[in-house]
Amino acid sequence: MDLAIRGGTVVTAGGPVVTDVGVDGGRIAQLGGTVVADTEIDATGRFVLPGGVDAHVHLTSPVTGPGSYSWADDFTTGTRAALAGGVTTIGNMSFPRRGEQMADGLERDLADAAAHSLTDYFQHPVLLEPDAKGIDQIGELAAAGHPSIKVFLSFRRFDRQVLPYLDAMRRAAEVGSVVLLHCEDSSIMDSCWARLREEGRTHPRHYPESRPVEAERVATERAVSFCATTGAASYIVHLSSAAALEACRVARGRGLPVYVETRPIYLHLNRSRFEEPDGAKYAGAPPLREDSDRDALWAGVADGSVSTVCTDHAPWTLAEKLDPALDATDLRQGMAELETLMPVLWSEGVATGRISLARFVEVTSTNAAKLFGLYPRKGTIAPGSDADLVVWDPDATKVVDGSTMHSAAGYSHYDGWEVRGWPAVTISRGEVVATGAEVVAAPGRGRLVPRRPFERP
Ligand SMILES: [Zn+2]
Repeated sequence: MDLAIRGGTVVTAGGPVVTDVGVDGGRIAQLGGTVVADTEIDATGRFVLPGGVDAHVHLTSPVTGPGSYSWADDFTTGTRAALAGGVTTIGNMSFPRRGEQMADGLERDLADAAAHSLTDYFQHPVLLEPDAKGIDQIGELAAAGHPSIKVFLSFRRFDRQVLPYLDAMRRAAEVGSVVLLHCEDSSIMDSCWARLREEGRTHPRHYPESRPVEAERVATERAVSFCATTGAASYIVHLSSAAALEACRVARGRGLPVYVETRPIYLHLNRSRFEEPDGAKYAGAPPLREDSDRDALWAGVADGSVSTVCTDHAPWTLAEKLDPALDATDLRQGMAELETLMPVLWSEGVATGRISLARFVEVTSTNAAKLFGLYPRKGTIAPGSDADLVVWDPDATKVVDGSTMHSAAGYSHYDGWEVRGWPAVTISRGEVVATGAEVVAAPGRGRLVPRRPFERP
């Protein structure tokens, strides 16, 4: 064998067990028994977890030209942050530019990732134009190994084209493509923005009022009904509120294939952050909510009604976030999270006893791998699976300092937090790619992960 990881507590679907892991040819070759190998890693007193699968990141920018988005990280800096945080596979949102079809944007992002990504990767093509060509491409792309599309209910264009979007979801159901839905209602938000401007309440502290829970609730309820109508597997991205989670719980009770993703900030932070002098740095879409929403989401992670915790990594520099030209109606949304996803969730979730070890592995790795057709190559530690492993040190304690981390954002919204539980060694396809936060993998090392069409887990 190439590599033996000795004496660690391996977390598999069957639960934690102290055993040796043998790796050969980039795959898990043996669990237990006598492992003879060229190289050894001592994992005594540590956990051995499947590498994180973060199904929701933004490492390419959607459009060029005036007013365009330009997030701080590209595939190189973003995936370097990922490896330092124990994430070995990412799912990137691939945006077509103006006048392009989904397949054009995808082709560009596949080439970009092939040249620059340090982690393995897959892509979610964003469906901006559900015209006949766009709908045809859902099937073509699924057949080519890209069985997912992203839809934004939050864009005004959605409400102008609900019927063709439903046609798109029917096609997705036919070809086994998962539909990722950003659930916020554009009319409610437009109405709130107008009101805030009229009343002169545009300071960033009013950001939560600009995108209220009602906007998320009604869009999530619509998404559930669209799922029921079309049969498309529906993955609600970055769900933030108790009300929206309840809509999804009801849907699951009806037997619908509705899956919930939440995002670290909705578990760890609440809306009082916007009262801080630099509160704009916490802006994401949806906004931070109340403690009652946080409690509901933690309960959802613990009881399985939340399937995944993914980053929505979409970083800006602090100067860009705090740009005084912006107000509560147009703050820059998103933040760096790839390096902190697993450690902060461990620290706040596993170390505190809120969630079990098994749930931690499910929401950071296994469930995303299953929903997006990567399992069992990714998302588990089993013979034949890719040897994507994190030797996890549950006692390592660090104070977060974004200026020393790998994202080009240069800061973290957790700066100053003491976080307990960090990767000691990160392994991708059998190779050590990071020791602690020191990343040794080269850009372009990452590979596109083959995907299967959606099957109900
Ligand atoms: Zn996103």
